[in-house]
Amino acid sequence: MDIETGLIMWAAQALTLGALLLLRGLQDRGQRFCLSWGIAFAMFGAGLLLAGLRGKVPAFLSIELANTMALAAIGLLAAGVQQFDGRRVETYIAVPALLWIGGMLLPFVREDFASRVLLYHLAACLGYAMSVVLLFSHDDRTSWARRILAGVLVIQVLTSLAAALLTVMAGAMSFADVPLPSFMLLSGAFCFLATVLSGAQMLSARTERRLQQLAMTDPLTGVLNRRGMMDQYDGIRQQNRLDKPMIALIQFDLDDFKQINDRYGHEAGDAVLRAFCRLSAISFDGRGTFGRMGGEEFASILRVADFLEAATIAEGLRMTLALQTIAAAGHPVNVTVSAGIALQSADQADLDQLLTGADRALYAAKAAGRNRTAIDQPAGAAIVPSASMLSHHEMTLEIQASKQVSTLRRIAEIANG
Ligand code: GH3
Ligand code: MG
Ligand code: MG
Repeated sequence: MDIETGLIMWAAQALTLGALLLLRGLQDRGQRFCLSWGIAFAMFGAGLLLAGLRGKVPAFLSIELANTMALAAIGLLAAGVQQFDGRRVETYIAVPALLWIGGMLLPFVREDFASRVLLYHLAACLGYAMSVVLLFSHDDRTSWARRILAGVLVIQVLTSLAAALLTVMAGAMSFADVPLPSFMLLSGAFCFLATVLSGAQMLSARTERRLQQLAMTDPLTGVLNRRGMMDQYDGIRQQNRLDKPMIALIQFDLDDFKQINDRYGHEAGDAVLRAFCRLSAISFDGRGTFGRMGGEEFASILRVADFLEAATIAEGLRMTLALQTIAAAGHPVNVTVSAGIALQSADQADLDQLLTGADRALYAAKAAGRNRTAIDQPAGAAIVPSASMLSHHEMTLEIQASKQVSTLRRIAEIANG
């Protein structure tokens, strides 16, 4: 098989793949990288086709235009990687094609075969190297598909450098003088295939990850759903945290939530649920896990040093919510929450017991009048005295807080036996 036939067959593959990716990119606006990669493959294919038609079409098409398209395609490959990783497409992806166009404006490069080959391969190296750096500058860099794709691109860089060097050393005046042309073609086609396969694997791994994430996320609030929370339990329990030997399950239930729906409508109720989740993100600040157990019930599982720490966190969220007026679908809404806490030593913890205990404590908090936190204990739930309940008008906030802490300490002492 001669080089021209090889190029044309390779072009047909690239064009078909480009068309398929373009269709997918057009159908699904959320997958813009498919558009970039589709255009990249189509342009790469068109460039190969023009190069394969060398001698049959004007030199401007088979040299200047063909190579511009191939280099623009290599830049678009990098643009697709940026979009795939959810980053902004940077203008530097145009540099490989611009380098080539700039070189073509210089007569001594344009008219010298070896200089053209050198320029093309150096620009291609730069383009491939951009994608390699982008692939590795992402959190997911340990995924094997990503590593294979980066590896294939490194091979492309090395092949391009070898091709440039061989052409210059051989003093080639035309393709006929290039040493090992079919080896170059074969390695190019192999890399192309490996790029496609590892790219497809990256895509399917990501789709699977997205589906998994979706199955664990509550669509209304964006926090974890019950299943997502329960999935994290084992990981949290097994964390090696000598400073936080206990595992706490805090259950939250919004107070008289049905009334909010009845008074202001379901949409306002939804807005309150979302607002509560935003506040929880501030209160928990990355500690443990927080999720929606269902309806207006939420929970958090986290490692703590003792009851005091768990109660302080729950009280923080409870008081923050009580002080807020939420703009819910145009209505100013004040809402409170009750919390129930269960605590066990992490190395002997049992999820069912934690859930039952937190539920029991929550029930006690509701029975004691709502808008408070209760801690599950063997002798029955203990209500955490609220700073605001302890308050006298003349008390400063610091005195209120220290009084609350000392009362919590007494509860913790009782709880720890
Ligand atoms: P309590 O203080 O005893 O917890 O009273 P409550 O009214 O909060 O509790 P109840 O269990 O009687 O009512 C919960 C309500 O939550 C009933 C249901 O309509 C509402 N709810 C559940 N899921 C959603 C939701 O996704 N959106 C909205 N807007 N309301 C919901
Ligand atoms: Mg409820
Ligand atoms: Mg409720």
